[in-house]
Amino acid sequence: MDEGKANCCEGCDRPLPTTCSHIIPRSYDITLLADINNFRFHCDKCAQVVERGDYDLLLDGEIILEYIEVTRPEYAEIKKQSYLERHGKEIYFK
Ligand SMILES: [Zn+2]
Repeated sequence: MDEGKANCCEGCDRPLPTTCSHIIPRSYDITLLADINNFRFHCDKCAQVVERGDYDLLLDGEIILEYIEVTRPEYAEIKKQSYLERHGKEIYFK
């Protein structure tokens, strides 16, 4: 994708180099590879946060989780369960 389109990372709003990253990885569902809503412009750090599933740390985390819940609810359950196991609480957005 065209790098440099966004000047600020959508996850942390810092002026960092961003790359177009997938919310739902291609390893999970290749059919979402070209879904425009499955893309975010994130810095490396935020891209890793998305991979982990700690969406509450991101400015666009709520958008991300909403997209997953609508698009692949079973993937959302996997990520929410993993969050619960790692943090001992359910994911929550302020
Ligand atoms: Zn970032």
